[in-house]
Amino acid sequence: MTTLFISDLHLDEAFPETAEHFLKFLETEAKDADALYILGDFFEIWIGDDDLTPFNRKIITALKAYTDLGIPTYIMHGNRDFLLGRRFLKAAGIKRIKDPVRIELYDTPVLLMHGDLLCTKDAEYLAIRKKLRNPFRHFLFLLFRSLKQRKAFAKKLRIKSKERYQTIDKTITDVDQNAVNNYMARFDVQYLIHGHTHRSKIHEFKIDGKNYVRCVLGSWHDQPNMLTCAQNKDGFRLAFTLMRI
Ligand code: MN
Repeated sequence: MTTLFISDLHLDEAFPETAEHFLKFLETEAKDADALYILGDFFEIWIGDDDLTPFNRKIITALKAYTDLGIPTYIMHGNRDFLLGRRFLKAAGIKRIKDPVRIELYDTPVLLMHGDLLCTKDAEYLAIRKKLRNPFRHFLFLLFRSLKQRKAFAKKLRIKSKERYQTIDKTITDVDQNAVNNYMARFDVQYLIHGHTHRSKIHEFKIDGKNYVRCVLGSWHDQPNMLTCAQNKDGFRLAFTLMRI
C-alpha cells in the first residue's frame, strides 16, 4: 500500500536511456502502487499535443497501458511542459492536477507543488512565469503557430534559460523557507512534496513545536528516483522514503 511520486524526468529524445528507465519503472516499481503522481517537468519540453513524434507516442502508449491497469495517475504542469493538454491526458489516461494542490493521502492532508512557486527569491523568473502561464496566450500560441514555429520558440527559450541559470547565484534558485512556511500554513498541511530544484532530500523541521516535512524529488538526469509514501505503523503519520531506481 504505497503511493509513488516522481518529477523532473525531463524526458527527451536526446536521452533515450531516461525514457527506457521510465518505461521499466512503469512495469516494475510502479505496478503495485495505489496511485502515481508526476509533479511536473515530465518532458524536457512540450510544445503541444499535436507534436506526436515516435518518441512521444511511445511514452503515451506506455502510460496508457499502465493507467489501463486501473492505477490512478496524476500529472502536474512543470515549467517546461505546461502545454500538456487534454488530448495528451486523454490518450495517456491521466488526470491533471493543479499547482499547488492539497490532497488527502491515507487520510492525511498533503500539499503537492512543482516547486518553482517556492523560489520567491528569483523575482525575474516569477515574472517570466506569470507571462508564460497565461491560458489565453497558450490558446493563441497553439492555434496560430505551426509546430515548426513553436519548436523554434521553445529552443530560444531554453537557450535563454540555460544562460540565466549558469550565471545566477545558486541560493536564488532554491526554495525560500518563508515561502514554504506560507504555503504550508495557507493550505493547513504538515507535509509538502515538490520537485523543480533537483535538490533531492527529505527536510524535517519544527515551527512552534509542530513537526513539518518537506520532500524534494530529484531530477532523473542525475539519477532516476522516486518518493514512496505509506501510512506509518502508528496509523497516523506518513512514512516517506526517497529511493534511487
Ligand atoms: Mn522545473
